[in-house]
Amino acid sequence: MTERRLLMIPGPIEFEPEVLRALGQKTLSHVDADFIAIFGRAIGRLRDVFLAPRAQPFVIAGSGTLAMEIAAANVVEPGETALVVDTGYFSDRMAQIFDRQGVKVVRVAAPIGRVPDLGEIEKALKTQSIKAVAVTHVDTSTGVRAPVEAIAKLARENGALSLSDGVCAVGAEVLRQEAWGVDVAFTGSQKALGVPPGLAIVVAGPAAMAAYKARKTRVASLYSDFGQWLPIMEAYEAKKPAYFATPAVNLVTALDVSLGHLLAEGMDARFARHARIADAFRAAWSALGLETLPTSADVTANTLSALYYPDGVDASVVGHVRDEGVVIAGGLHPEARTKYFRVGHMGAVTGSDVLATVGAIERGLARAGYGTADGRGLVAAQKGLAAKAR
Ligand SMILES: *Cc1c(COP(=O)(O)O)cnc(C)c1O
Repeated sequence: MTERRLLMIPGPIEFEPEVLRALGQKTLSHVDADFIAIFGRAIGRLRDVFLAPRAQPFVIAGSGTLAMEIAAANVVEPGETALVVDTGYFSDRMAQIFDRQGVKVVRVAAPIGRVPDLGEIEKALKTQSIKAVAVTHVDTSTGVRAPVEAIAKLARENGALSLSDGVCAVGAEVLRQEAWGVDVAFTGSQKALGVPPGLAIVVAGPAAMAAYKARKTRVASLYSDFGQWLPIMEAYEAKKPAYFATPAVNLVTALDVSLGHLLAEGMDARFARHARIADAFRAAWSALGLETLPTSADVTANTLSALYYPDGVDASVVGHVRDEGVVIAGGLHPEARTKYFRVGHMGAVTGSDVLATVGAIERGLARAGYGTADGRGLVAAQKGLAAKAR
């Protein structure tokens, strides 16, 4: 059985060999001078990746969901109200997290495949006392990308903080945290940052840190409390040893390597590469007659594609594509779970990965009775890639 199967799901993704080698190195003491230097550098690099020069990064062992909990727990207090811009599965999770923390939730929702109307968000902000607005930058269940910049602006104009769930976006979709005025942006390691699962990464801007310091109640979870972690993050950056809870030493080392790759590519070049790759995939989907969940181009993410199964085809196609050598994902949004599949395209993805994936999907669809794998998707993707290369 071959291990050479291309992983094209919306996280975890294919990782760079150098990142994986970093994971396999001897584990250093968490207060070893070498590790302190690595961790300190990774924290600084996060400011450059999030384009948030004045913000405080937190790197904490846990998955992306922990990053959501930390963001919610530190800047909103029980009894206050948060507005959730609801674009699908992960917005719903954010609402559940606020609810568990005793925060009242106001939702502004849109039908599947769309983003809520900005006018409705503004109305909710003007008619209610809202402490923070939470938006999912890319909802991984639908491939819908929300206008984070515009929503952060509305929040600020109405005296609310903004929280952006960038777990399927940071490092691939355009995010300029400071210029956009996003108060807390967060992600997990395993998506566009290109590091195996296990790190929650939260970047808090000055207004978010001020809101934390002005709290009347303490954060109920010790592990999630900014106050426990701030001295640790500051110490690592100042090259001094500190301990609150053992950092994931090998993952942090791998994170530092991967952030180095991101910054060597350059954030703008990286955003542009993801847009190019996504365009080539979209050309293939359209040539194959596949319909996307997002209903318009301006709300379609560059990090993944969510596609309805064509008539007469069911979820078995995911298994066929796997047999053809490429791992893709089924549906996730509860309203349409069995009706669509998802293809991740973020991180180290290349033009060759695009062709391998489109080819495997064409053959998988043909096995499921749709089309003849005549290469029309491949031709469209290849033309897209070649046009952009010129
Ligand atoms: C994957 C994802 C999460 C959850 O991350 P886990 O690491 O699975 O806990 C949250 N939000 C978004 C947008 C995601 O894509």
